[in-house]
Amino acid sequence: MGQVQAHSSRKTQILLVVDDRPENLEAMQALFEDGDWQLRCVESGEAALRCLLEEDVGLVLLDVQMPHMDGFEVARLMRGNPRTRFVPIIFVSAIAQTQDAVLQGYSTGAVDFVLKPFDPSVLRHKINSLLEFERNRSELLQLTQQLDKARAFNASVLDNAAEGIMVVGEDGHIQFANPAMAQMLGCAVAELQGRELLGLLHSPQIDCDWRLSEFYRHWRRSETYRLHDASLHIEGGGSVPVALSCSPLPSLQHAMVVIALDQSAERHLRAQLQSQAVTDALTGLLNRHGFQQALGRALARIERSGERLAVLYLDLDGFKRINDSIGHDAGDLLLQHVGEQLKSCLRPYDSLARIGGDEFAALLENLEHPEDAAKVAEKLIEQVSVRHRLDGVDFTLGASVGIASFPECGQTAEGLLRAADMAMYEAKGAGRQQYRFFSPEMNGRARSRLMLEESLRSAIEQDDFRLVYQPQVYLDSGRLRGVEALLRWQHRVAGTVAPGVFIPLLEETRLINHLGEWIFRAGISQARHLADLHGQQLVLSLNVSPVQFGMPQLVEDLRRLLDAYQLNPAQLEVEVTESALMQDLQTTQEQLRQLRALGVKIAIDDFGTGYSSLAYLRHFELDTLKIDRLFIANMLESPRDAAVVSTILDLGRNLNLEVIAEGVETEAQRQWLVEHGCAIMQGFLVAPGLSAEQLEQFPLQLDWNQLPCLDGPSSEG
Ligand code: C2E
Ligand code: CA
Ligand code: CA
Repeated sequence: MGQVQAHSSRKTQILLVVDDRPENLEAMQALFEDGDWQLRCVESGEAALRCLLEEDVGLVLLDVQMPHMDGFEVARLMRGNPRTRFVPIIFVSAIAQTQDAVLQGYSTGAVDFVLKPFDPSVLRHKINSLLEFERNRSELLQLTQQLDKARAFNASVLDNAAEGIMVVGEDGHIQFANPAMAQMLGCAVAELQGRELLGLLHSPQIDCDWRLSEFYRHWRRSETYRLHDASLHIEGGGSVPVALSCSPLPSLQHAMVVIALDQSAERHLRAQLQSQAVTDALTGLLNRHGFQQALGRALARIERSGERLAVLYLDLDGFKRINDSIGHDAGDLLLQHVGEQLKSCLRPYDSLARIGGDEFAALLENLEHPEDAAKVAEKLIEQVSVRHRLDGVDFTLGASVGIASFPECGQTAEGLLRAADMAMYEAKGAGRQQYRFFSPEMNGRARSRLMLEESLRSAIEQDDFRLVYQPQVYLDSGRLRGVEALLRWQHRVAGTVAPGVFIPLLEETRLINHLGEWIFRAGISQARHLADLHGQQLVLSLNVSPVQFGMPQLVEDLRRLLDAYQLNPAQLEVEVTESALMQDLQTTQEQLRQLRALGVKIAIDDFGTGYSSLAYLRHFELDTLKIDRLFIANMLESPRDAAVVSTILDLGRNLNLEVIAEGVETEAQRQWLVEHGCAIMQGFLVAPGLSAEQLEQFPLQLDWNQLPCLDGPSSEG
């Protein structure tokens, strides 16, 4: 570009000739017209100045003697104006000049002085060289201006870059630093200049010689050196995390450019993510991962010291049901609350974690005896098992705790946690609100439990379940009241499995919810079939487990099926246990109200074994009490059991409830029940659970002297 400009400026360079005499001007024009320039001729100093301001004049041939404004005056004015200051001037004078005049000419800025008459070829030569000089000068000026612009641009880039930028010499000293760099380090740019780069590094600490440092070695190999996890000293203390990249500049510079990226925000984010990875967002306690880490650290610490520790695994009883009924937001609040309560039972240095939905784990260190863990477990259970109030609703939680102590129950974090988990399941199985220590036998039981659970799942998929129906008969007339549907599992290898074995497992694993719908449908369709067969309104009793009873859609499910099979709701009886009713007073009342509104009967199953609180009989509207078969089995020998049975019978009479005696096996038991005014019985004396085919054969009216001889389907009875 400089070339093109130089060329074009050569073509357009203007030679200005100033003389007050026209004949002189004409002569000059004739002499210099054909030069490598454009000629301008003017007759006065004023005209010359005008031309100088309007055009880019390269050289002025200036007559000294002129009226009004002589050549010296023109030169003086030219020098006073920045635009014309450097335009070269050759004075042309007709008179013989004194030394003084010549000196004056030079002092006003002339670069040459020519006397008339002059030798045109000499003057032409001078003109040429002065024009060239002027051309060079203006090109230089342009270049300088371009350079200044480029420098200002670079400087503004460096000044405004958000990254810290330094130029470090091959001797390891900082030659340049931009404002961002200085700001990052809390000092002024000038303070950085001349300092050693390695002296800025907080980490990694490099106390070796600059020439042994990776910075220098990479530079020598013309390679870029990157350091992701560095940090730099901040003036006045502290450090800033940075990522550094150090690239060699062109070899002539003997320097490298170091760019520093402030990583504070990223590091903060990373730290946050790391802490999130070990904490439970809801409660702020550790999460499972965090707990395992804490446990792992504790184990490493006490490895050979002989110290003991214990892991407590706590599972809330009844939380899931509460969560389903009060909504998840309230459930979350409850969990937070429980977390705080648990924490208050522990010493400040014990770790507490929420490791699953409603499962917590505690790590107790510095235990004198394993039994100390039991005390803590008791305290935890007691804390949780109080009445909670949320959104104006009261409910009771419970907790089961499993304990695994080190070194007896496991050596690894994972092993201890698993052992505590198994112990917790044992505690749950033993009835709620309990704690259990892990014992080695639990291992085996846990394994078979797992296998059972697995085969239950596939049994559901393969439809290996069926219902049997046990008749309920009026003791006085022998008339058939109805049947209770009982679930059987036709195991492909083991044969029939009784529900006492698998129902608790179905409940725990919530698989009962899958199966429940099937049970209801099979039972109700069978009831429809019986009604069609006999034209009689027999009762179908369906067992509803606590989990099922807690489901909000229970009533809807039943309504749909009753509709689908056109069954009178009064023909359906729902059997619930006391424990199902005791879960939560308000939900229970609501569920019972809806069931009654639907028109189905409600029976309390296994009455007498549970809380047996008379109080709840007041709260709930019921139809039937079923006396648990244990009382029936023992009542003839045990006066206490007999007393319980007759009390229940009285209760039923007074509250106007039907009472069914369960598990009647002998004629003597039947006689006793008849004498004591029991209305209905169920039991092997009459029949075990019958297959659908057997049930069709079963008489609607029994003759007590001639009871049908019935075996249950294959393994029944
Ligand atoms: P439950 O509701 O108390 O059922 C009565 C149990 O007593 C049945 O045991 C029945 O076979 C047994 N039984 C009846 N008469 C006699 C007798 O004279 N002597 C003796 N020793 N036992 C008799 P089963 O079928 O093993 O059921 C056990 C429990 O499993 C049931 O107790 C009930 O709580 C539950 N269950 C059974 N079927 C279902 C079901 O479809 N759904 C739900 N949720 N639970 C069920
Ligand atoms: Ca039952
Ligand atoms: Ca029962």
